[in-house]
Amino acid sequence: MSPCDWGGYVGIELSQAMRRFGSKVSVIDRNDRLLHREDDDVTEALRRLFEDEGIDILLNAQIKRISGKSGQSVKIVLEQNGLEKTLEGSHVLVAAGRTPNTEGLGLDLAGVELTNRGYVKVNERLETTSPGIWAIGEVAGSPQFTHISIDDFRVVRDNLAGGNHVTTGRQVPFCVFTDPEFARIGLSEKEAKAQGVAYRLFKIPMEGVLRARTLSETRGFLKALVETDGDRILGFTAVAVDGGEIMSSVQIAMIAGLPYTAFRDAVLTHPTLVEGLGALFSSEPSAQNQRMRMAH
Ligand SMILES: Cc1cc2nc3c(=O)[nH]c(=O)nc-3n(C[C@H](O)[C@H](O)[C@H](O)COP(=O)(O)OP(=O)(O)OC[C@H]3O[C@@H](n4cnc5c(N)ncnc54)[C@H](O)[C@@H]3O)c2cc1C
Repeated sequence: MSPCDWGGYVGIELSQAMRRFGSKVSVIDRNDRLLHREDDDVTEALRRLFEDEGIDILLNAQIKRISGKSGQSVKIVLEQNGLEKTLEGSHVLVAAGRTPNTEGLGLDLAGVELTNRGYVKVNERLETTSPGIWAIGEVAGSPQFTHISIDDFRVVRDNLAGGNHVTTGRQVPFCVFTDPEFARIGLSEKEAKAQGVAYRLFKIPMEGVLRARTLSETRGFLKALVETDGDRILGFTAVAVDGGEIMSSVQIAMIAGLPYTAFRDAVLTHPTLVEGLGALFSSEPSAQNQRMRMAH
């Protein structure tokens, strides 16, 4: 079997899974990187991981034609850097995003307006434009994660009970369940730079995490952004075995408003993966970001 796939979050999870089931897999993406909105070190780690696993990655690719029937035989003609290429395989997985299913429901008759992208228009309390009608989850344009849809439910439940629970400013953690995982909470470096937020960058390779060595799973890294005029953690990224679990430890610290020094100075059990956070926050911030801090 030889599936072709698209290079977003869903596409890369399923690409690796299908490859490990034994398929030959090609990932096709129109951007110049996998997960192109993420930091370059994340996308580069994923690229190397996929290459090592024998997954073909076709970037900057525009699909021109698809013919055949997925499940039997398919042919994809694409253009990459001005050259036309043809791929043949047995299955196509289109993981090119999801669209809200709001057509034909008569929402307009109920006075429920949509955004220009077709989502139900809501305010921060998840009220629609029609009093007494609420919307939650992906259809309301919330970030596309199960835990966010569940939180939307809590927002509406509290507001129905007379509260004033809003979605504004809530944390949006996520984990991409590749192996190793890619997990993030708070700011990435790209986001910090785009927002003009100065930060100190702490970063260590997973080889520096003793538990990763005992597991023989040393691929990846941990990194954290810490504010420059205080010790607050602004963001944390793990490309790591059980990265989602490590990230959640940092998230709890962020919720509690703990400074990064709490990890640095904590007595963490050896050898656990979370012990690696002690190593991370004991490391020196990188010179590049020290310069950026001064420039801010
Ligand atoms: C392959 C894949 C992997 C994912 N992995 C993760 C993950 O690991 N972690 C994570 O947090 N998120 C993950 N997600 C995203 C997550 O599934 C969604 O964000 C989440 O399901 C959104 O919940 P929801 O209730 O808003 O919408 P949905 O789960 O899509 O629920 C909407 C429901 O409404 C129904 N419906 C639609 N139209 C109508 C209608 N007209 N009348 C009646 N019912 C209707 C649908 O049938 C569906 O049951 C993944 C998504 C995909 C596709």
